[in-house]
Amino acid sequence: MTISALLIAVFICIQPAIAADTVTDVRIWPSPDSTRVVLDMSGSAKYSYFTLKNPERLVIDLQDTKLSKNLNKLDIDSKLLKKVRKSTPKKKGDVRLVLDLTKSIKPVIFDLPPAGPYGDRLVIDLIDTKTKVAKSEKKVGSNRDVVIAIDAGHGGEDPGSIGPSGKYEKHITLSVAKKIAALINKQKGMKAFLTRTGDYSMDLHARTRAADRAGADLFISVHADAFTSPGPSGASVWLQSTTRATTEVGRIFEDQERQSEVLAGVAQSIQEAGASNDQYLKYAFIDMRMEHSRDQGYYVAKEVLSELQHITKLHQHKPQSMSLGVLKSPNYPSILVETGFISNPKEEKLLTNAWQQNRLAKSIVQAVKKYFDRYPPDGTYYAMKKKSTIKHRVRRGESLSLVAQNYNVSISSIKTANNLKSDTIRVGQLLSIPQ
Ligand SMILES: [Zn+2]
Repeated sequence: MTISALLIAVFICIQPAIAADTVTDVRIWPSPDSTRVVLDMSGSAKYSYFTLKNPERLVIDLQDTKLSKNLNKLDIDSKLLKKVRKSTPKKKGDVRLVLDLTKSIKPVIFDLPPAGPYGDRLVIDLIDTKTKVAKSEKKVGSNRDVVIAIDAGHGGEDPGSIGPSGKYEKHITLSVAKKIAALINKQKGMKAFLTRTGDYSMDLHARTRAADRAGADLFISVHADAFTSPGPSGASVWLQSTTRATTEVGRIFEDQERQSEVLAGVAQSIQEAGASNDQYLKYAFIDMRMEHSRDQGYYVAKEVLSELQHITKLHQHKPQSMSLGVLKSPNYPSILVETGFISNPKEEKLLTNAWQQNRLAKSIVQAVKKYFDRYPPDGTYYAMKKKSTIKHRVRRGESLSLVAQNYNVSISSIKTANNLKSDTIRVGQLLSIPQ
């Protein structure tokens, strides 16, 4: 008998003794339209489940399992789940859990292998499919607000990266995102939308869909970077890779529902072109939108980097691109901001500091304002503001300070409005004079 065969034999012998699994903890993550219940297990769960009506219940049977968590101490703050309790199992040695629900819900149950700070888990997603989808707020009106979707990375079960002193990325991203949103909502002509408002998990698709429904004009995903060694530091800004963008165009084209949503705005043009069934033309329209949004994303990314450089070290000075699941809507420019490295002890401290979080938020909002000043979406307050900006053609003998004096505005505001790097202006140059 070889050594490995012997090991296998030993393993088989001891198998029955270690078979009993234990539920060590039960965690509940409510979000506005779903609730996730996580059972922390000592090993991978062997389970089955069924639902019961009047009242609505979900029953989960865990084979060869013990329960070491006191279910009376669970903190349940969910619109869908009333109670988690134990019931008599069908078989001795099993655990039967009953989840008392507030309405009929189709559960999604799956197990997860150990990852990060967690061991084996059994995840029960209770999703309220009847939640009314918020209708797009972006509509007519000549000077509507621009809508900026702020996406706090990770959340709930997914802590993101973890710093050397144990700080979670998901907490940093949420507080920075909330600060950005609060600042945006103080600006005239802007409105923020948070994809995630609390500590719960949310898949990437749900994030972009929520932003789509909110009528976003811009999508900013907030993250903190990590590396295997503590050295790397600094912020960076990311865009979708061209390859992934092309893949996403293909996916939208294949998905009738999403295709018609994306084409909603151009449907008339397609009809006018007498090509409502022209698949090639439809594909081209989606592709054009994606490309346009990606181009615009590049401008936003550049503005964000040029603001961030004043308040933090930059890890990358130019916008970077990579295949990113969360940046995939063709409807608006999307960027991902890595606010710094949580794996770097100094930056971990900085990123969890409210003062630095405020500075990050201010810089990002400043960049967003500059971007919309230059590229206002039609029908927005920003578009109206840009139209009403006075234009001045530089005459012989005029200096920047003279122009500023004549219009009673500051030199720096003219420089910002025209993206001037120096005080030099030339005869015949057309300047926008901000008001
Ligand atoms: Zn992240």
